[in-house]
Amino acid sequence: MMTRRKFVAKVAAMSGGIVLIKSRQAAAERSAATILPEPREAPEWARKARILSAEYRDVPHLKRAREEFRATVMLLYCCPETTNGWCPAGTWDQIAFFIQQAHAQNLKVVCYYDTTTMEESFLSPERREWVQTTIEGKPCSFTRRHVWHLRYAFCYNTPWSQHVARIARGYAAAGADGIFLDNPNYYSFTGITCFCKFCRQGFKQETGQDLQQADEAVRIAFHQKSLREHVKRVYAAASEAAPAKQMVMTCNTSNPALPMQRLDNLGQAENVIFRETFAGQKNAKENLRRDAAVFPRKPLWVILTEGSGAKGWTGNAPKAAAQYDECLGIIMELGLCPVVWATIPSQNPLRPGFTDDSIYNQPELARVVAKHFSS
Ligand SMILES: [Zn+2]
Repeated sequence: MMTRRKFVAKVAAMSGGIVLIKSRQAAAERSAATILPEPREAPEWARKARILSAEYRDVPHLKRAREEFRATVMLLYCCPETTNGWCPAGTWDQIAFFIQQAHAQNLKVVCYYDTTTMEESFLSPERREWVQTTIEGKPCSFTRRHVWHLRYAFCYNTPWSQHVARIARGYAAAGADGIFLDNPNYYSFTGITCFCKFCRQGFKQETGQDLQQADEAVRIAFHQKSLREHVKRVYAAASEAAPAKQMVMTCNTSNPALPMQRLDNLGQAENVIFRETFAGQKNAKENLRRDAAVFPRKPLWVILTEGSGAKGWTGNAPKAAAQYDECLGIIMELGLCPVVWATIPSQNPLRPGFTDDSIYNQPELARVVAKHFSS
């Protein structure tokens, strides 16, 4: 039997329903637009940045990073407290020490954290409510080829957001110059999410509608806004911990076709746009040019990752060097900021993190990176 609500919705859909959906979408956007301020403009050093990935074990390489490779920024993969199961773990002392040593070489440090997924051991009973939830009330979890265990996807409308903000505050207090959040996502990992109690309550409050019965376009707008607010919250926490510093705030976009990672949405909460590209991509130059045009005043940082999780780079420095060379050539030609995997990431679930192949021990890789970074 058709409920009154469904009947009204059906009538609305038949008689100008699109207009109704659009106005609700706009209302969901408007109601959230002004909770937290957008980040300040990116610092000057972020505009001409040459960025290398780094782990704690790279401390002895910092001098080479600066002098031989002309790097200006280190993107530090060293997770305190907990990790997504892939990123190497470390202590707050190690993070502070790395930053101090990098600053001594005149290098800036941006710290990595996964903003959605977290290892299973982090999911204590009191955090059960932080997990993204399906419409049937099931927690969203997933495994990836390069990580052996199950991970959970947390929701930005829960206290998880404050937890990530606290991590960012810690990074800033340790001396970090910026925060990089990985996997900003609601939708792509697990299907249509999130229907957790925080999302349902927040949505009802903002729109007067039930989340479960809303149009998908309206739900997407709500979750896009939730993600933006989360990123702004993280930025505000980091800035509060280092008020004299102009912090970089950026998030990975691995696929701008995803509703949560659309550059025109996520980019509103960032002062640096970050784009992950993949080897062998068609129309790579045109795509990057289009990405750079979305926010022409914000720097665009670009990293090249192995396509589809293949193991093609590990133990094959010539192949990796050729693909680095091609991609870096395009990035430099377009005047964008290159981010390079100084060490090739591991695709082995039993040994996540990084391999032992790096610019510090593979001369072919070293030559390519030094050539482009100094151009
Ligand atoms: Zn939620």
